[in-house]
Amino acid sequence: MQRDEQIFELIEAEKERQLHGIELIASENFVSNQVMEAAGSVLTNKYAEGYPGKRYYGGCEVVDEVEQIAIDRAKALFGAVYVNVQPHSGSQANTAVYHACLNPGDKILGFDLSHGGHLTHGSPVNFSGKLYNPVFYGVEQETGVLNYDKIQEIATKEQPKLIIAGASAYSRDIDFERFRVIADSVGAILMADISHPAGLIAKGILNDPLPHCHIVTTTTHKTLRGPRGGMIMMGKDFENPFGIKLKNGNLRKMSSLLDSAVFPGNQGGPLEHIIAAKAIAFGEALTDEFLQYQLQVKKNAAAMAKALVAKDYNIISGGTDNHCMLIDLRNKNLSGKDAEQALVKADITVNKNMVPFDDKSPFVTSGIRLGVSAVTTRGLNDTDMVAIVELVDEVINNFEDDAALEAVKAKVNAMMQDKPLFV
Ligand code: PLP
Repeated sequence: MQRDEQIFELIEAEKERQLHGIELIASENFVSNQVMEAAGSVLTNKYAEGYPGKRYYGGCEVVDEVEQIAIDRAKALFGAVYVNVQPHSGSQANTAVYHACLNPGDKILGFDLSHGGHLTHGSPVNFSGKLYNPVFYGVEQETGVLNYDKIQEIATKEQPKLIIAGASAYSRDIDFERFRVIADSVGAILMADISHPAGLIAKGILNDPLPHCHIVTTTTHKTLRGPRGGMIMMGKDFENPFGIKLKNGNLRKMSSLLDSAVFPGNQGGPLEHIIAAKAIAFGEALTDEFLQYQLQVKKNAAAMAKALVAKDYNIISGGTDNHCMLIDLRNKNLSGKDAEQALVKADITVNKNMVPFDDKSPFVTSGIRLGVSAVTTRGLNDTDMVAIVELVDEVINNFEDDAALEAVKAKVNAMMQDKPLFV
């Protein structure tokens, strides 16, 4: 068969873009060569509906071993007793949890999308807001941080069946212990969605949700630096509180409901090539090298936030505890959309983002979100973060001047030229 040059040329073009640019999208990272190799392996040819040892297809002996290793490594990494590595994405992981715990119309309490939450936490444009009945908590206007007393008040008033603790654009650590007190006070299931800070949590740098939350979901491709995918975990299994019974009359365990919700509830065959890549990424994350990487991520984010504040950038909550930060650009007189477009012209990739109490639409926005996981993987340190802020500031101050943006682009390309893309 003829090689499909059309697509391979585009893949090469994307590789060049990644190589030459400064990647500040908070949800992105660069995987290792071995993670990439597994993701492009022959395991993509295999159907394996079911779970290790209980498949609906023959020939699953090898992928059974792969999937079991992924599960065991994830358990060791997070201190979990239950892990399901099959969700194709973070959204699929959340879908499965809701499917296991809720009926259509049930009330869920999540972090408002415009304050930092995720679409799957009840947004009206997402299945979670259409199928269930969402209510929201948000950050305080003055401080940009969560007020747990107010979350308690909302929970008491609304009596949700499920509470979601977690965010896509929140730079502060989350008090999962307090969330559990709130959930218990109203008899709600508490789910943490640690998609963003999972890598930092795995290495003990941020609060651990496993001891406090009934269920924890995550993506595997952000700070965790694995292939694109999702995962569901529990620190402790328990009998489901919904009265769902086995044939023998015993209550079904939550682990069994979650497994059924993933397959056959919401997915068919698992992506065993991606599960192999997840296993490799978890193995990498178990090393001391990965701890050093996450410590550098935290250090880099703090250095970037400090340099931005020194240049009068308004970071929501004033700084960061993790890998990311959300900047309100209203004092700089340009929209998030203008900033994103100008930065892309200079080979700096960010995403426009709503800020709390935004007066612009999600297509325009007043802010941008920055994260340092990807540039840290490429070997940049805290001094480099200060240099990046200089470049970002030059773009923001000259966002309509194409010659100035070209000049910044040359500096960006020079900075990144000797930095390896893969670990
Ligand atoms: N949950 C959170 C908090 C996220 O930030 C994201 C992705 O950005 C997701 C879920 C969804 O992940 P995916 O894009 O893999 O569906």
